[in-house]
Amino acid sequence: MRVSEIFTKTSKDAPADEVAKNAQLLIRAGYIYKEMAGVYAYLPLGKRVLDKIIQIIREEMNAVGGNEISLTALQSSEVWQASGRWDESVMDVWFKTKLANGTDLGLAPTHEEPLTKLMKAYIRSYKDLPVYPYQFQIKFRNELRSKSGLMRGREFWMKDLYSFSRTREEHDAFYEKISLAYDRVFERLGLGEGTYKTFASGGSFAKFSHEFQTVSPVGEDTIYVSREKGIAINQEVYNDEVLAELGVTRDELTEETAVEVGNIFTLGTRFSEPLGLTFTDESGQARPVFMGSYGIGPSRLMGLIAEHFSDDKGLAWPQNVAPYSVYLVQIGTDDEATARAEDLYKTLSDKGIEVLYDDRDERPGAKFADAELLGIPHRVTVSPRLSADGAYEYVERTSGQQEILTLDQLLAKLA
Ligand code: ATP
Ligand code: MG
Repeated sequence: MRVSEIFTKTSKDAPADEVAKNAQLLIRAGYIYKEMAGVYAYLPLGKRVLDKIIQIIREEMNAVGGNEISLTALQSSEVWQASGRWDESVMDVWFKTKLANGTDLGLAPTHEEPLTKLMKAYIRSYKDLPVYPYQFQIKFRNELRSKSGLMRGREFWMKDLYSFSRTREEHDAFYEKISLAYDRVFERLGLGEGTYKTFASGGSFAKFSHEFQTVSPVGEDTIYVSREKGIAINQEVYNDEVLAELGVTRDELTEETAVEVGNIFTLGTRFSEPLGLTFTDESGQARPVFMGSYGIGPSRLMGLIAEHFSDDKGLAWPQNVAPYSVYLVQIGTDDEATARAEDLYKTLSDKGIEVLYDDRDERPGAKFADAELLGIPHRVTVSPRLSADGAYEYVERTSGQQEILTLDQLLAKLA
């Protein structure tokens, strides 16, 4: 892609009312556009980052047997009334509206109810189980406060997978399997280091659920971590009984603020019973399906990664989620400079390397500043000064380390 063909522009300032660093940086770099508090549009570069995050999650969900679907945002009230969650005292984040004829509608804040109802059309016998449908979808939640940029939106992307199992044992085995898939997701996103599978409250069907919490100063949650024992506990279940059960003591744990990037939850028959999702077992008896739900927040992750991997110059994306791998800066606008830059652009692109080519007629300083703000991992400069030697300047975004390389050396570096 050529910078001249992207309609967005970088800017020195973010909107005055934007207090979150992730949104300030992403807006300045032209990745997102703020529609209103907690509501953001994804622009060309931002859409690529979001898609890369989504693709990593998709690959890991497919690897554990996920079936990708796309449910509807518009929801009629019946099925939510059956589960007891239409009431705003139970679910306080609803956005509700009405059809022209007065019928109540809601914009889905999550999808347990409609999916449980949908699966009644396909699950009859034990032979139809287990199954693992999942989706990437925009969820709508009327969050009370939305001051954390992409990390707490009123409209945001979620990956939600639901497991439908015959027995508790079958459920437990999948729960462990998807937990490992979550570890791989956060590892691939560059968050392996500070992300902990955290004991959290479990509801009626399990003592605990598990949250995946990334330690961060901008987190809204408090967790207690023992790095030594690899255990983390959410404040909500942090008490003497739980500590004894997990075999840790208070002095082994440090208090951290953290961001919940995902969670896995045993639902049991919380939804299958009220909505009548049953199957006939081997002996011909009807039994409620045993369910679980598994969320990850791609929008929140994008905000967290932006915030986490940044410095005073701008963003600094980890390789796997960067919108492009290489920022190619052309210095000089004469035919020779252009031919040399075009040549390298083609050579790199032909090798499958994703290049963002700054072909604009701009000062070198402006191009370098944009490369830094955009946070592309590798910067390569084609300049008249180096062309006599057939050399290129290479700078790594994160370390700022600069090297002068031949084409072969450059290709080896970027391979
Ligand atoms: P929180 O406690 O932070 O409000 P939650 O428990 O409501 O989160 P879930 O309903 O389990 O979250 O949603 C699944 C995932 O979706 C979360 O782990 C998080 O990554 C993401 N998520 C939840 N709410 C938001 C939001 N308002 N904006 C962006 N992502 C969100
Ligand atoms: Mg919430």
